Amino acid sequence: MDTILLTPGPTMILDEAREALGRPIIHHRTPQFQANIKEVIEGLQYVYQTKNDIYLMTCSGTGAMEATVCNLLSPGDEAITVNGGKFGERWAELCEAYDAKPTVIDVEWGQAVDPEKIREHLKANPKIKAVFVTLNETSTGVVSDIEAIGKVVAETDAVMIVDAVSGLGVVDCQTDKWKADMVVSGSHKGFMLPPGLAFISASEKAIKLINSSTNRRFYFDLRKSKKAFEATDTPFTPAIGIVIGMVESLRWMREKGIENLFAHYERLAKGCRAAAKALDLKLLADESCISNVLTAIHIPEGVDGGKLVKTMRDTHGVTCAGGQGHLKGKIIRIAHMGIVNEDHIIRCLETFELVLKEMGYSFTDQAGVNAAKAVFNS
Ligand SMILES: *Cc1c(COP(=O)(O)O)cnc(C)c1O
Repeated sequence: MDTILLTPGPTMILDEAREALGRPIIHHRTPQFQANIKEVIEGLQYVYQTKNDIYLMTCSGTGAMEATVCNLLSPGDEAITVNGGKFGERWAELCEAYDAKPTVIDVEWGQAVDPEKIREHLKANPKIKAVFVTLNETSTGVVSDIEAIGKVVAETDAVMIVDAVSGLGVVDCQTDKWKADMVVSGSHKGFMLPPGLAFISASEKAIKLINSSTNRRFYFDLRKSKKAFEATDTPFTPAIGIVIGMVESLRWMREKGIENLFAHYERLAKGCRAAAKALDLKLLADESCISNVLTAIHIPEGVDGGKLVKTMRDTHGVTCAGGQGHLKGKIIRIAHMGIVNEDHIIRCLETFELVLKEMGYSFTDQAGVNAAKAVFNS
């Protein structure tokens, strides 16, 4: 069976990158590999829309998130985090793991944080050193207004750190213009590669704070990363194969142009939303902050969402994601990122309809599929 993967990480691998991953390995302390690092950094700076340093980390996305926390904050330092989903929650957990004190702004799942709330907290507590936010909250399919939050944070001494692990390269993230001091991403989402490589951009403001932190750190010490960055190197053995694969992904992204990619993913997202509406199913994310990275759709009452996702995967070869946390079994998340195209989405919706029908939900045949096709053909 021809299988497709429409989860918000990992994502399907780009053909050119897969070919690169299959090449014989080369040593990392060589001019040949250095040329790859150079091209990857330049390509990432294009996607990040930044002139800042970008550090390559060998870990999954959470490792890079942890690196920002343990480098920026010292024990007892105060921070703001936003809890509107599984990944926003992770920022608070990471702060606590390093004895920092997060003020958690709770947001209903499906909604985005109001930048004014962040302003109020920063005003009330000038000791806050860092504001941790999420570009695309993968558990809900909500996109935050990073530009507005960046404006608020830039007026203070605090730094803004953006978890863009699932959002980067899929939706707009203007690191420099929006004053994002650190932006975290990883190889296995918008970059169409296996997990193993993560990236962190760092502004001058962030670097100052990193240098003044008294926290203990070793593998994730970004002072080592900065030194290596300046020498077009990495502090330890990097995920060599993935760096080489990244050269291919980034060439593909540059050839397409990020603006065109953003427009492509928006079309796919609109197709999914139209399909949900035509099937009389509710979207999880509020219209005001719905993301183009993935579409989270409520499973109708009486249908077991866990079983539905499993059947789509095991019987039909279409892998989507279910819900996390309290939404387990209640939603389906269809990702439209990386190499996902209209045909993948149509196949996914056909399968979704087939299994929904089998599980007892009634609707007009092909209603969702036709609604998506209408968007794609317009
Ligand atoms: C995938 C993801 C992460 C990182 O998860 P890992 O499993 O550590 O790669 C972090 N934040 C968001 C928003 C994500 O989607």
